[in-house]
Amino acid sequence: MEREYIRGGVIHNSGNSVVYKTGGWRVFKPIIDQSRCNSCKLCYWYCPDSSVIWEKDNVAINYEYCKGCGICAYECPSDAIEMEREKL
Ligand code: SF4
Ligand code: SF4
Repeated sequence: MEREYIRGGVIHNSGNSVVYKTGGWRVFKPIIDQSRCNSCKLCYWYCPDSSVIWEKDNVAINYEYCKGCGICAYECPSDAIEMEREKL
């Protein structure tokens, strides 16, 4: 699908979020410490961009779409996610 940016950043058609790689303007990135993770899956459910990948009882981040909002780190009950500043 070809990208078309409209003045004001308004996107009128639906079903195209996969085209917009929101990870490109991230300032902080979540880093998961797997040794602290208890596999509760809360980060997976809370992520507003569906950027947490859940595979075989392990969580990982899809950095192409993670915008670095920090919700996953805030909600993690095990403090297993640290938000680290991106290196420029
Ligand atoms: S919220 Fe924290 S403990 Fe739960 S699955 Fe995610 S990283 Fe692991
Ligand atoms: S920082 Fe935000 S966008 Fe990135 S994985 Fe966590 S909740 Fe999702």
